[in-house]
Amino acid sequence: MKTMNIYDVIIIGAGPAGLTAAMYTSRACLKTLIIENPSIMSQAGYAVLVENFPGFTQGVSGPQFIANLKSQAISLGAELIVGNVNSVKFLKQQNHGIWQINTLDKTYRALSQIVASGASARKLDIPDEDRFLGKGLSYCATCDGAFFKDKEIAVIGGGNSAVEEAIFLTRFAGKVTIIHRRDKLRATRFLQEKAFSNKRIDILWNSIVDKILGDSKVSGLRLKNLDTNTLRELRCEGVFVSIGKIPNTEFLKGVTSLDDNGYVITDRELKTSEKGIFACGDCRDTFLRQIVTACGDGALAAYSCQQYIEQR
Ligand code: NAP
Repeated sequence: MKTMNIYDVIIIGAGPAGLTAAMYTSRACLKTLIIENPSIMSQAGYAVLVENFPGFTQGVSGPQFIANLKSQAISLGAELIVGNVNSVKFLKQQNHGIWQINTLDKTYRALSQIVASGASARKLDIPDEDRFLGKGLSYCATCDGAFFKDKEIAVIGGGNSAVEEAIFLTRFAGKVTIIHRRDKLRATRFLQEKAFSNKRIDILWNSIVDKILGDSKVSGLRLKNLDTNTLRELRCEGVFVSIGKIPNTEFLKGVTSLDDNGYVITDRELKTSEKGIFACGDCRDTFLRQIVTACGDGALAAYSCQQYIEQR
């Protein structure tokens, strides 16, 4: 009978957190497998130009940055395969157990796993949303705001993220219009007051986006007023959708502790509630979601994982 390859660590996710973790575990001589989900692009992959990663004075495109990390992890010894992880299972053995990680068509085994599956931006779910991505539509103000200098921008959403992003975008934009589906913002009072007193911010209440207008790039939005059921057009060259994030942690339900929004709960060493599972990057509840913090998280999770393997 063919025996199954057992990895020291399987890393689920190939964004900045997962790939950095893979570099560290590989350099620590742990047999490392990265499983990349082909249908989930890392948030970093959306960035037209990453201008705030230390050391890249000219900036770097998100896809190029990810490609660099990937080849660095592989050159250090990590294996990378493509697969959609849909469940993980603990198999008890004499002293310690091992983890079985199932993709849609294959099964892998490891002594530990680092979950770096990220979070996906919640989409508006309207026609042409994907077509306009990178052509005026963005899910990340920090990444793309600087491309809209003196332009008119719309921000969709009424939570802390949307209002913070709208305030941030006034550094660049001539005018920012927040479009919110209710007559009250969800954001904290502090942020609301900052937005209300900002002369460059307008708010359109009780409104949703009915259609994105434009040919090859965004030229405006058709909005529907939910009170009056009427349509109106708003001219803008940028649209930032900020209606929440969805952590990609479905496969961990019932395995390790998740918070009410589905984010993985970790301690300061990035251990989860389950022995042998570590989490890093956007799939855990973090204060700042940036490439640089995801990479730092990846290094820390790898270090904790390395200690766990040594102590086994
Ligand atoms: P959020 O709090 O869930 O807010 C999402 C917003 O988008 C809500 O205003 C919601 O409207 C709206 N929305 C949701 N689905 C929509 C749809 N399909 N169409 C139109 N609008 C839609 O998400 P978030 O702002 O990303 O924040 C996530 C978490 O991070 C929150 O706990 C937040 O407090 C925290 N956070 C904190 C800070 C900070 O403390 N500085 C900064 C950022 C985020 P409704 O209001 O009608 O539901």
